[in-house]
Amino acid sequence: MLKMAQINSNYKKLPGSYLFSTIGKKVREYQEKNPGARIIRLGIGDVTQPIAPEIITALHKAVDEMGNPETFKGYAPDLGYEFLRSVIAKKDFIERGCEISPDEIFVSDGAKCDCGNIQEIFSLDNRVAVCDPVYPVYVDSNVMAGRTGEYDPAKECFNDVIYMPCLKENGFTPELPSKVPDLIYLCFPNNPTGAVIHKAELQKWVDYANEHGSIILYDAAYEAYISEDDVPHSIYECNGAKGCAIEFRSFSKTAGFTGLRLGFTVIPKELKAGGEALWPLWARRHGTKYNGAPYIVQKAGEAVYSENGRKQVREQIAYYMQNAGIILDGLAAAGYEVSGGKNAPYIWLKTPDDMTSWQFFDYLLEKAGVVGTPGSGFGPHGEHYFRLTAFGNRENTIEAIERIKSL
Ligand code: PLP
Repeated sequence: MLKMAQINSNYKKLPGSYLFSTIGKKVREYQEKNPGARIIRLGIGDVTQPIAPEIITALHKAVDEMGNPETFKGYAPDLGYEFLRSVIAKKDFIERGCEISPDEIFVSDGAKCDCGNIQEIFSLDNRVAVCDPVYPVYVDSNVMAGRTGEYDPAKECFNDVIYMPCLKENGFTPELPSKVPDLIYLCFPNNPTGAVIHKAELQKWVDYANEHGSIILYDAAYEAYISEDDVPHSIYECNGAKGCAIEFRSFSKTAGFTGLRLGFTVIPKELKAGGEALWPLWARRHGTKYNGAPYIVQKAGEAVYSENGRKQVREQIAYYMQNAGIILDGLAAAGYEVSGGKNAPYIWLKTPDDMTSWQFFDYLLEKAGVVGTPGSGFGPHGEHYFRLTAFGNRENTIEAIERIKSL
């Protein structure tokens, strides 16, 4: 009999990702019915401010280098250029007291790919734990690999995944799971809840992982938004983290690189799973499946750490965080239960009158012309919650909140 090519049937287990397509459809329908209405979007997690001038200058300079035979660059080194890895090691880690060396940093084109791909270097038998609600990439990439079991539509969960509820009662930070996972995805500051984890609390996770031989996959994509002391910028600020944690970083929300694309992953040389070092596996994977972030983008990344670059990106972050303050204060004054927004560009609000997340989405769109993201789209424990982002421009943010207040 003719043997036909077969698909990876794990992909069929993925429930449809209706969140952003349903939002888009509802917004289009509303716009058709109300052609004069000016919709304000506080739903998407994309930045709106342009790349800072110092970074643009570095980009232009690097582009010119590419047109000159003396300075032209071809393929980048596998781990990324030394000039970028050493400034990252120094500014993001050594200056915060974390002993991370440049060759423990793998430069990439963003945190999404790395968060999605990292599971490849682990056994399919590993049991995964995620927060609920959660950034969907962690679960979906493990579904594709065949590590999650079947989807249970009634529970909206995969049978073999450990979901760690993040609720008001636990300050939207998970409890240590009683059933021990092998791989633990943590993201702080958190998308979607905007919650953070304090250092003593994160230390408990590190101790737990070291005690049980688990690996923490720590997504610190929003690290630059931390404003309070005692909130760790890196998991390596905790004792023993180099023995149990991988960290992901992104230039997307730090410096407006969502369109330029740049990020990095830290894998300490000493980090082992089941007695085997992980660094060589990720180095091999990187070398085999990835050909490096563009030279010009790595040069732009280097400029983020220059004195002017830092100052300018901090101003942008402050701008977004002022938006967050406007949203938080405005909604609190209007009687909403709100959290997040202090060390993260996300505001997490409880829907009023026991509305479901989607009912509140419709209500906000129809009555105020404001678009946000239903919390239930991030997991079952996101139900009755709603996410607003601080990434809009000032004028729109103020107007959106005024409209919500006058409902
Ligand atoms: N991790 C989290 C928690 C995010 O919210 C995002 C983007 O929204 C990413 C990673 C992706 O970052 P990047 O643009 O670097 O791929």
